[in-house]
Amino acid sequence: NAKEQGLELNRYAHAMQMKAQERLQLENDLRKALDRGQFYLMYQPQVNLASGLVVGMEALVRWQHPQRGSISPAEFIPLAEESGLIVPLGEWVLRQACKQNKIWQEAGYRKLCVSVNLSMRQFRHSHLLDNISGILNETGLEPAWLELEITESMTFDKDRAFEQLRKIKEIGVHISIDDFGTGYSSLHYLKDLPIDRLKIDRSFVNEVMEDRNNAAIVSTITSMAHHLQLKVTAEGVENEEQLVFLRDQHCHEAQGYFFSKPILPSDFETKFLRDVDK
Ligand code: C2E
Ligand code: CA
Ligand code: CA
Ligand code: CA
Repeated sequence: NAKEQGLELNRYAHAMQMKAQERLQLENDLRKALDRGQFYLMYQPQVNLASGLVVGMEALVRWQHPQRGSISPAEFIPLAEESGLIVPLGEWVLRQACKQNKIWQEAGYRKLCVSVNLSMRQFRHSHLLDNISGILNETGLEPAWLELEITESMTFDKDRAFEQLRKIKEIGVHISIDDFGTGYSSLHYLKDLPIDRLKIDRSFVNEVMEDRNNAAIVSTITSMAHHLQLKVTAEGVENEEQLVFLRDQHCHEAQGYFFSKPILPSDFETKFLRDVDK
């Protein structure tokens, strides 16, 4: 009846309001988080499948919230993106990752390439190039040891993406397409865009042994990358069978829990840099 419906609506409105309030609160907290030093980076190794050597690492941001504990980027990156906060946050991530990589290189470890995720808003930002050059200058990291990960959706506006990517490549920084296969980038774009690498989305890699279609997709992307003279990385490798499959396909690199989850810099150093061949 009408009264019950009214109550139901009330409850709904209340729940919605709570959600909106929570969101607003989180957004407020996010705004302060950068100044308060609540962000930190984790690193996940990227392994060359032919040599078995760790050749790179992806920097992944975390937020240590004072009340809620560690918050996943899946939760706060979209918020940061909407509020525009992603621009200063992304710049912080980039600086931090370059700084860390330089520190490890100076320590005499074998040089690795660090991958940093770019968000749409950052990618479109007119100061992106100045920011990248500035950070490379400031940290002293050679551009060749930095790779930026963009997603297919960012190449939707082809001319704009082309210009931005060309400028990034010009300074010597590498570019990869993340989550490849889940977006809408047409093969037509792929042949023209100045990129270096495809990262096969983990949804295909995860069930590569269970689902013949996934296996077909992974091997097709890998072979296409070879033909286009692009590097190819498989994401989300969790077991040895998947690794063997990828190696058979001559996939260049792999990343996933099988090697390691994203870990703190100090752990990364102990596990993957120290005492390993220099
Ligand atoms: P992504 O760029 O695709 O990063 C890979 C995600 O997959 C990471 O989640 C990583 O922990 C997870 N992963 C890696 N190997 C495995 C595996 O074997 N199995 C499974 N199940 N998962 C695996 P994370 O760190 O939670 O990041 C989620 C997403 O948040 C990232 O996806 C990326 O889109 C975004 N993100 C993270 N850090 C940043 C950043 O600094 N800037 C921007 N713009 N986005 C970021
Ligand atoms: Ca990524
Ligand atoms: Ca990915
Ligand atoms: Ca992603």
